[in-house]
Amino acid sequence: YHQVGFSPLGYIVKTKERLKLANVLVIGSGAREHAIAAAFKKSPQVDHVYCAPGNPGMKKDGIELAAIDETDFKKLGDFSESHQIDLAFVGPEVPLAMGAVDTLQKRGLNVFGPGQASACLESDKTFAKRFMKRNGIPTADFETFTDYDKAAAYAEKQSLPLVVKENGLAAGKGVTIVTQRADVNPLLRSELEKSGEILIEQYLTGEEFSLMLFVGGDKRVILPISQDHKKIHEGETGPNTGGMGAYSPVPHITDEVLAETIKTVVDPTMAGLKNEGLEFAGTIYIGCMLTDDGIKVIEYNVRLGDPETQVLLPQLKSDFYQVITDLIDHKLPDMQWQETDYYLGVVVAAPGYPKAPQQDIPLPALPDNVYYAGVTSDNQKLFSSGGRIFTIVDHAKTLQAAQDKVYAELAKINLADFYYRKDIGFRDLAKSRV
Ligand code: AMP
Repeated sequence: YHQVGFSPLGYIVKTKERLKLANVLVIGSGAREHAIAAAFKKSPQVDHVYCAPGNPGMKKDGIELAAIDETDFKKLGDFSESHQIDLAFVGPEVPLAMGAVDTLQKRGLNVFGPGQASACLESDKTFAKRFMKRNGIPTADFETFTDYDKAAAYAEKQSLPLVVKENGLAAGKGVTIVTQRADVNPLLRSELEKSGEILIEQYLTGEEFSLMLFVGGDKRVILPISQDHKKIHEGETGPNTGGMGAYSPVPHITDEVLAETIKTVVDPTMAGLKNEGLEFAGTIYIGCMLTDDGIKVIEYNVRLGDPETQVLLPQLKSDFYQVITDLIDHKLPDMQWQETDYYLGVVVAAPGYPKAPQQDIPLPALPDNVYYAGVTSDNQKLFSSGGRIFTIVDHAKTLQAAQDKVYAELAKINLADFYYRKDIGFRDLAKSRV
């Protein structure tokens, strides 16, 4: 850039310095982190984008890998110093819950994500429910138990179905909805043995949706609404997974519902964070249910969703690095989003996922609109390593056209050795493809 000033001798001095570009470290290894790192890579202010540990599929977008575990904070700090990292972005919940942000901030780094105390909104369900209660945020009635007899006595007085949750991070697998009386006590016993503390919750019915916001202190921006698909099979059947696909925006969530959610959930949540000294720069993901009795919060997460991020960040027109640094400075960022298209992403998983995904399957050649997750490499070839392997994302003027486009792309790839759902987007489409 050009700097103009006056020298002590009185004449104008013009210097031309190269703008110092920033280096970014993204922590995590999934398709979500691939989308985050790719968004940083597009910023004109950014030079290197590293991902720790990342995955070798990310290299196609110029993302560099740092072979460091996402919870090895000492090594992540050392790497940040040696590679002059200006900003770190923590993707997954586990390092957040373990205090990644606090540890890296102590080393003088700018970090996007909640500190450990605020991360309890996700990692400690009892804490989150009590936070909601204290701050007047609508949620299902609940009790917490560490003692089997007390839990069983309480459950006996409740009508079925009952929701039993283990306290702690469970990768979306810690919630059981019990419909048979005979199943209640054995479940309470086994869940208590597993996690030491359980929540018994009132069962809610209604349409589920989620709202994600970026926060920076008391500033907040609501991200476009996205819809994920949690179950392994079509029509939302079978066991829960990390998420099998997503789309955005979501036509069935109206402006009225959004306005109501902001009033009854988002604003009280922001006020609660401030009152309790829990403000941070990061993401709040609110899982909501639209019940006959108004909107209720099912859960908080304190990071971006996966696969929602893969359909969200490609919609951002603004400079992602500027957005995140503004939030870290507690400034309201300028976030401009595309406004014409629907984005849809389908997750391709290894067969056997979520129980026992088959490993080491060679990947076919993939189009460029892919975000990689569970992959390893052997020279130039990629192999599956994990459950969810990659997400294919595309966009079009209508949701139907976006769905048709993504499935047409998937049909062209030889995916006989893999598994994916054929109905991503079904809630908002007149006819499912199944
Ligand atoms: P969570 O891990 O708390 O998001 O729960 C996972 C899933 O369990 C949610 O997405 C809901 O589908 C379901 N769930 C959780 N809590 C309740 C509840 N109180 N009533 C009905 N369904 C629930």
